[in-house]
Amino acid sequence: MAGRRTFFFEGLGVSEGVAIGPAYVIESDRADSESWEIADSEVEAEIERFEEALRLAKDDVRSLGQQVAERVDRQQAAIFDAHLLMLEDPFIVEATIKRIRNERRNAQSVFWEVVHELGDRMKAIDDQYFSERNHDLYDIARRVIRFLRRLDSPERIEPPRNRAIVVAHNLGPAETAQFSRDHVVGFCMNEGGATGHAAILSKALGIPAVVGLEFITNYVRSGDMLILDGSEGKVVLHPTAEQIRHYEKKKQRLAAYRRSLEEYRTVPAITRDGAGVSVLANIELPEEIASVRANGAEGIGLVRTEFLYLSQPALPSLDQQTAAYRAILTGVEGLPVVIRTLDIGGDKLPAFPLAHKETNPFMGRRAIRLCLDKPEMFRTQLRAMIAAAVGRELSILVPMISGLDEVRQTRAFLSELVAERGAAGQPVPLAVRLGAMVEIPSAALLAPALCREVDFLSIGTNDLVQYTLAVDRTNSDVASLYRESHPAVLHLIHHTVTAGIAAGKPVSVCGEMSSDPRYAILLVGMGVRTLSMAPSAIPVIKRAIRAVTLVEAEELAREVLLQTTPEEVERTLHQRLHRTLEDLKQAPPSPSQPGASPVAAG
Ligand code: PEP
Ligand code: MG
Repeated sequence: MAGRRTFFFEGLGVSEGVAIGPAYVIESDRADSESWEIADSEVEAEIERFEEALRLAKDDVRSLGQQVAERVDRQQAAIFDAHLLMLEDPFIVEATIKRIRNERRNAQSVFWEVVHELGDRMKAIDDQYFSERNHDLYDIARRVIRFLRRLDSPERIEPPRNRAIVVAHNLGPAETAQFSRDHVVGFCMNEGGATGHAAILSKALGIPAVVGLEFITNYVRSGDMLILDGSEGKVVLHPTAEQIRHYEKKKQRLAAYRRSLEEYRTVPAITRDGAGVSVLANIELPEEIASVRANGAEGIGLVRTEFLYLSQPALPSLDQQTAAYRAILTGVEGLPVVIRTLDIGGDKLPAFPLAHKETNPFMGRRAIRLCLDKPEMFRTQLRAMIAAAVGRELSILVPMISGLDEVRQTRAFLSELVAERGAAGQPVPLAVRLGAMVEIPSAALLAPALCREVDFLSIGTNDLVQYTLAVDRTNSDVASLYRESHPAVLHLIHHTVTAGIAAGKPVSVCGEMSSDPRYAILLVGMGVRTLSMAPSAIPVIKRAIRAVTLVEAEELAREVLLQTTPEEVERTLHQRLHRTLEDLKQAPPSPSQPGASPVAAG
């Protein structure tokens, strides 16, 4: 809008593409519906809880203020002093404490009412200053409520209706899954890492996204004009007409580039010297089935089944799951499909209480651990998979395998359930293949032994990086330490692939790493022959594989595996692949003449 100061924000681009449109700020103001009575004996503890949340909110505001002072300027940071004053305002604090005592209700509902009453009075004053303070008031209220809740259970989100760019503090995959391309053209948030599930979902939904923007929600109001560049990780608030023109052009260029890749959908991924690579799709949502074939996938290498558990208020029934899995299997009839058992936990939390809150959820009762602890829930899912695959082959993949025992227990469940159908005279799948995800270093180190227990392995690099380097994949504060190029990660992958080759067991890679052309080529050089990725990445990866020879990819892998730091690895990838990959960004050669661009010499 003319006359408004333009702000630039930089974060992590996690889903490519450009979006231009009004902001839609997701405000977590749902505390009014979180009202419950408390007993006399609980009053003092509830007040303490409120005071602790205020303290934490103040610490948070102070550190934000410092960051803004360092990165933007002191003047902008002054707003946080005003926030601190509000957090100490007796009208808010004392009024809340008094009402918790008198009304015997929980802190967030009382606090939210106090804030609303004050907010309404401010709104009634027709003045620019008060309208801005009103926004500040809600901003600090949401901060306090987040600390009061101390749980990240997904919220129902009212989606925007005006093709807006969603701006949020942090959204989990359950919330992100509620967006659709019809309503949301872009997505950005303060927190989040490159391979968090909100990021993965925005890619699956084809919505450009930037995460890790730190404090963008403090600047943007719903309705403000934004530009979001998911390829470069940039967001522009109140862009000038010139900037809008520039990004409109970029948007058109990207669309033309994507159209130019279309012909790669129908050709196989074969290196210039004839080595074939299977390129498969990962799907997070049933509506992606159409894009599997449309992008030329040779099958589905990973069905994340969490969508059934994240999108509804109770556990999905046997019938519901059977129908969902059958729809996927028949939707890509004739193509191989690998369905993964439930990977709930970490940053994927259902809307209903399935397990108690954990301090360290990524290290906690996630995925197979939860399934083995809740055998009936696990049996229901396995029964549904078996029923859906009658008359076909069923490939089941188990996440978060840390050792042999989880595989053996899963196999025992499968034998029991297949026998159960047999005894009841019900038909069974033609074969049941069991695979283990290698995403914890212990599983990678045990790969030779795992190969004796399973039919195939699939390397989940998103978690393998997180668990090898002890870097939370969703935490933007440590995003710079999250490096697929870390030699420790690469050695674990290489060890796993080598074990698979020696045992004659297929090993695929289904983490985000396989959708990056540099790493796709490196993985092929290490011996990987199956890559599974977001459907939209498939044409680019096919094209990258067709641009190199296996000999070159193997040389690259040999060189990279001798290196000892992520920087060296990245430098080598850049030196050897930059020219090829830059050429690929230009109009592609006809797929009938694969490999028009050689790998640059090292
Ligand atoms: C992975 O960890 O790489 C993976 C594919 O699983 P998810 O991203 O669902 O954890
Ligand atoms: Mg994983």
